[in-house]
Amino acid sequence: MTLTKTDEPKKSPHLLIIDDEKEVGEFAGIVAQSLGFEFTATTNAEDFLKALDDNITLIMMDLMMPDMDGIELLRLLGQQKCRTTLILMSGYDKRVLETAEELAQTLGLSVAGHLQKPFRLAELQKLLKGYALLNLVPQVARQASKAVTKDELLRAMVREEFILHYQPQLNIANGQVMGVEALVRWQHPERGLVYPDDFIPQAEVLGVIDELGWYVARLALSEIRQFVNKEGALLKLSLNVSPQSLHDLRLPDTFVALARQYGVAPENVVLEITESGLIKELASALDILTRLRMKRVHLSIDDFGTGYAMMQQLRHVPATELKIDKSFVHDMHQLNSARVVVRKTIEIGHELGMKIVAEGVETKEQLEFLRINGCDIAQGYYFSRPIPAAALLDWMQHYAPLNF
Ligand code: C2E
Ligand code: MG
Ligand code: MG
Repeated sequence: MTLTKTDEPKKSPHLLIIDDEKEVGEFAGIVAQSLGFEFTATTNAEDFLKALDDNITLIMMDLMMPDMDGIELLRLLGQQKCRTTLILMSGYDKRVLETAEELAQTLGLSVAGHLQKPFRLAELQKLLKGYALLNLVPQVARQASKAVTKDELLRAMVREEFILHYQPQLNIANGQVMGVEALVRWQHPERGLVYPDDFIPQAEVLGVIDELGWYVARLALSEIRQFVNKEGALLKLSLNVSPQSLHDLRLPDTFVALARQYGVAPENVVLEITESGLIKELASALDILTRLRMKRVHLSIDDFGTGYAMMQQLRHVPATELKIDKSFVHDMHQLNSARVVVRKTIEIGHELGMKIVAEGVETKEQLEFLRINGCDIAQGYYFSRPIPAAALLDWMQHYAPLNF
């Protein structure tokens, strides 16, 4: 449901509200209107994202909605580099609101304050007046990427507009290609090639990430059969899995059956889950991860080092691989702290019986440092960018590990 009050000639601040309780949104809107705001009230994520354009100067967001996780929406706004100021609302206790406010700030979002529900009229007026005073000239919101709708994503799947690029993974000890990571791209009819950071978070928020995940799995499993090493053995396939998809207990069985259908053994697949996603979903995900592992599927902790996880938490994850985030690899040459993180990650990972992959390897120096410190696998532009399957096959024919 979208309720809009606009069409005034002079530019006044525009409040966008998302609250599953229609009455709360309308109430807040009317209060804002009395203070000179325009407003748009929405009750679900899809309408909210559609309404979020450059005219919006202030967002009021409920953190607890039945079919939508407010924290997830905050992350999406952070990823989209949203500059619009936020007011957070929730019926949770104050500590939760304060934590959410801190999270929003670490995501680079600006927060004007929070309201604990049920809030009083005066509290809301105070926040809105404070905002209006500080922003006599309305701030213009800038969205880094265009909002995508659920229909667009579903349609793109039907039209098979999602394609995969593959990036090789090399064994550092002998320079052999041992696997490929599949990375999804959207071949958009008007926008050209769209990268995953511009549609995966949206697919998660809009509830179509499972469909997209299965689409990617089927496509990758069908394409991987072409990739064999010199001995004729199939290369390993790494697939990125959204932590949100780790809720269905049937996933391990369904996935293994699908792999078999394409003639790919489960031990030939590595499922990558980001460290931050893992921590968030740890309780529900552990069961599924353990079952996947029992079926011999490999598990990798992606973007390791960025999720602020405690080893204590990750100890329980039956992962077989750790992927050091590319930001550490990038900073290795200039920051001692990055070198320490990389060295210690390799050491601890090995002690826990995991293989260590370094992503984002771009230079010979980085590769040398990783080799000296016993890192197992490297992936990055130094070898190849992610490219279509046919191009990678061609690259493999010309690649000579002797020059490694
Ligand atoms: P990721 O899994 O950590 O993938 C690595 C990202 O680093 C890729 O970005 C890759 O193109 C980029 N990269 C590789 N080598 C280098 C390098 O040497 N230097 C630099 N600067 N970057 C490098 P990409 O393809 O844009 O993907 C971004 C993220 O989107 C992925 O991060 C992954 O988390 C997510 N993603 C990609 N495909 C899928 C998918 O099918 N499903 C899900 N759920 N997520 C996906
Ligand atoms: Mg990955
Ligand atoms: Mg990564």
